[in-house]
Amino acid sequence: KDFEREINEDTSIHVVVRCRGRSDREIKENNGVVLSTPEGVKGKTLDLSMGPNAVSNKTYAFDKVFSPAADQTTVYEDVVVPVLDEMLAGYNCTIFAYGQTGTGKTYTMSGDMTDTLGILSDDAGIIPRTLYALFHKLEDTESTVKCSFIELYNEELRDLLSYDDSTKLKIFENEKKGGHSTMVQGMEETYIDSASSGIRLLQTGSHKRQVAATKCNDLSSRSHTVFTITVLTKRTTDSGEDYVSSGKLNLVDLAGSENIGRSGAENKRATEAGLINKSLLTLGRVINALVDKSSHIPYRESKLTRLLQDSLGGRTKTCIIATVSPARNNLEETISTLDYAFRAK
Ligand code: ADP
Ligand code: MG
Repeated sequence: KDFEREINEDTSIHVVVRCRGRSDREIKENNGVVLSTPEGVKGKTLDLSMGPNAVSNKTYAFDKVFSPAADQTTVYEDVVVPVLDEMLAGYNCTIFAYGQTGTGKTYTMSGDMTDTLGILSDDAGIIPRTLYALFHKLEDTESTVKCSFIELYNEELRDLLSYDDSTKLKIFENEKKGGHSTMVQGMEETYIDSASSGIRLLQTGSHKRQVAATKCNDLSSRSHTVFTITVLTKRTTDSGEDYVSSGKLNLVDLAGSENIGRSGAENKRATEAGLINKSLLTLGRVINALVDKSSHIPYRESKLTRLLQDSLGGRTKTCIIATVSPARNNLEETISTLDYAFRAK
C-alpha cells in the first residue's frame, strides 16, 4: 500500500507499464501469473502477488497500465499521439522502453517493421507508426525531417546509419544561448521525405545491429539504441515574420534492466564482473534528480545522458514505458522494474 501515491498530472515525466502475455515457454514451464493487470486493455493500477502462495500483495499506480490485451495501436494512441503534438509544438521529447530482456521493449519501440506500400503490420511498433503519423500531419506545412540512429554499447557510440559503422562517435559539449547541449561529431543525420524512407533507415540500422549481436552475444541485451526524429518547420508569427521551429523526438530502446541490479543499486559482484551498465544506472539517477528537482543533475556521468541532455529536464517531455512479464519466474526483475519506474514518477 505504501507504493500508492497520487498521480501528478503536471509532471513532465509520464510513466506507463506494459505487461505482455505469458510466452509459450512460460506457459509450458507452468510459470504462474503473479501480476494482475487491469481488466480490458488499460487502467491505472496493477497488483503484484508475491511469493508462491500470493500471501502478500503490492499495488502500484502509474499514469497508465496496459494489460496483455492492449495492442500496438492502443499503446501508440495513448502514449505517442500526445507526445507527437508536443514535438511539433517545439518540445524535445523522449520515449524510453525500459525493462528486463524478453519483456517487449523492441516489440514496443520497433515491432514488425514491414511496410507494404504504406500499409503497416498490426504488430508495427511506435517508430514506424510515428513516422507515418508525422508525415501525415506535416502534409500542408513547409518542413524538413531528419533522422539519426545510434547504438550505445559499453559507453561507446556506433552510428547505425553510417556505411562505416566501425567509427566510434564522439560527444562534444556545445555551449549555446539559453542552455547547455551536446553534439555528436560525425553522426549521420539523414533527411527523409517520406515515412517509408524513415522506416527503411530503421530496418537497415536494426539489421546491422542484429548482425553484430550474433557475433557478440550480450550486445542486444546490454546496448541501447536511440532513433531520433528532428522536425524543422517554417512558421510565421502574427506580425508576419518567418521563423523556423524545431522539435525532436528520441525513441530509445534501452539495455535490459537486469543489467543494473535491484532498484538501480550498484551490486558489488556485478561491478567486479564489469556488468554494470553505466548509462542505464545514470539515467535512473538523472530522472530521480529531475523528479526531486535537485540542483545537480548528473548528466555528465554517462554517454546516454550526455547524448539526451537537451531532451531531459527543462522544457522537455519524457515518457517511460516499463515492460514486464506476468510470470512468476521473473518476479524479482519485475519488482525491480516497477520500483525503478515508480521512482521516476
Ligand atoms: P526485449 O526487447 O525487451 O528483449 P522483445 O521485444 O524482443 O523483448 O520481446 C520478446 C518476445 O516477446 C518477442 O518474440 C516479441 O515479439 C514478444 N512480445 C513482447 N511483447 C509482446 C506483446 N505485447 N504482444 C505480443 N508479443 C510480444
Ligand atoms: Mg530488444
